[in-house]
Amino acid sequence: MLSTADLMRKARAAGLVIPAFNTPYLPMVEPVIRAVVDEDSFALVETALLEWYKFGAESAAAVAAEFQKHQDPAHVRLHLDHVPVIDEDGKRWDYLAVIAEALAVGYQSVMVDGSRLDLEANIGATRVVAELSHSAGVPTEAELGAVLGHEAGPLPPYEELFKSGMGFTDVGEAKRFVEETGCDWLSVAVGNIHGAISGAMADQKKPEAKLNLKHLDKLSAATGIPLVLHGGSGVKREHVLEGIKRGISKINVGTEIRQSYEQALRDSGSITAAQDAVYDRTKWVLRDYYGVSGDSKTLVG
Ligand SMILES: [Zn+2]
Repeated sequence: MLSTADLMRKARAAGLVIPAFNTPYLPMVEPVIRAVVDEDSFALVETALLEWYKFGAESAAAVAAEFQKHQDPAHVRLHLDHVPVIDEDGKRWDYLAVIAEALAVGYQSVMVDGSRLDLEANIGATRVVAELSHSAGVPTEAELGAVLGHEAGPLPPYEELFKSGMGFTDVGEAKRFVEETGCDWLSVAVGNIHGAISGAMADQKKPEAKLNLKHLDKLSAATGIPLVLHGGSGVKREHVLEGIKRGISKINVGTEIRQSYEQALRDSGSITAAQDAVYDRTKWVLRDYYGVSGDSKTLVG
């Protein structure tokens, strides 16, 4: 069986993308997997640490148990999204313990997020996680630059953010970061933003984001590894498709399917109806938005 690391390298070489679907509520896992299988795509199922306690995903172990019930290695693998060293509320986490626990319950790739640290500290934290995950035969994703949006409070106007390149991943730093940490995939900031998760903002539609494709080219050339786009739903579609050809090998999809679930649950009071809404939206993302139907054959063989 090819590892998730192998599949990501294959995707990068072929100019294909592996979508990663966040399942902040446990009943989302089944319809996401069903949609991926029905589209014969290949995707990751992921949750971030904040989704365990701010939403309904409970814990790394609870998500892993739900995943194992429905898993299909030719179509889906389990990924641990954002484990922050310092989170969006300024809280410090014992990130190594969280990641060690996830590895113990069978996660097939992990992410450490040291992006709120200075460069040296981010390198230090990421290197330790990469060593730990590699000893378990599992790749590590890291983040450099600031993918804004999870913090409470409004963002500056998007156009201003984009023009100024505020928070964009620096090319020289990215090269050094990858060399010194041994991380396998890098989450970059090139205009993408996270969906809001706090208060009334969590229901709002994200502003349409763009990608600075020239900057992305430089990051891809400097690092030589698969790049990851967070905040993938809500980026201008032509930019996303171009980005995939230029080295984005994984795209996180969070807000898009979470809001489908929550909306349907509010409207109907039925978890089954909410699961159906997630299934439909996931199929739409795979087939109509990213065009990755049938990719399982190419990637997994
Ligand atoms: Zn993210």
